[in-house]
Parts: sequence; C-alpha cells; structure tokens
Amino acid sequence: MKVSFDYDGTLARHDVQEVAKDLVERGIFDVCILTTRYSNPSKYKRLWEGSEAGKQYLLDQHQELFDVAKKVGITEINFTEFEWKTKFVDKLGIDVHLDDNFREEVSVINWKNKTKAIYCDGVGWKKELYDALGIEE
Ligand SMILES: [Mg+2]
Repeated sequence: MKVSFDYDGTLARHDVQEVAKDLVERGIFDVCILTTRYSNPSKYKRLWEGSEAGKQYLLDQHQELFDVAKKVGITEINFTEFEWKTKFVDKLGIDVHLDDNFREEVSVINWKNKTKAIYCDGVGWKKELYDALGIEE
C-alpha cells in the first residue's frame, strides 16, 4: 500500500512525523510526501525577488521539507506545483493520503479518486489512518 503525507500543516507537525516514521519502519508501506508546493522555491516570484530575507525564508522552508523527509525516512517527494492533489493521487498510485486541507483536498479526493483521504485534524486522524492501512497502533 502507498501512503502519502501532505507537508504544510501535516507532516510539518511532530506528532505526524512520528507516525510517518513508524509507517516507514514497518517496512510494508510505500511512504511519500505529496505537497502543493513548488519544487523550485524561486517560483514564489514575489517573495523570491522581493528581498534577500524573503529569498532566505523560501530556501529555509524548502530545506526544512527535505530535512523532515530525511528524518522520517521518506525518499519520494512529489510537488504538485500548485495544482490540486486530486489530479495526482491516482497517477501516483496512492491508496491513503493524509492532509489538513479538508475542503479543497480531502473532500475532493474522496469524491473524485480511488484514494482514501484522511483529514489531519486535532483528534482521530491517527486511528483513522491506521485503520485505513489495516494495522494496529
Ligand atoms: Mg497542508
């Protein structure tokens, strides 16, 4: 089974990172990141060209994503380049996706795709994720 994590507001959270690491370590899942971000931070034109501080901020944000991926053991990172994830989940063969954007990602994916999208809110998401993957916590 393939499981993807949104980054901002999701895998950026420490409690979610622990879960992602657990799934990687179980060795029976393909675990990846699926983020709406640009793969090249210079595409955030206004901030990139606005100031050195803005550029540095973007570079730091970009590096942080790769640092977290490395920390939890994820090697596959998919950037949608600001396209909706519903266009990608089937192509990427993702069975389960965790995301903090209910209205524009979770609900749309569950409506349009084979993928089961789970809303990463304050409570319940972890059990829902493990249940969807058919494993015990
Ligand atoms: Mg998010």
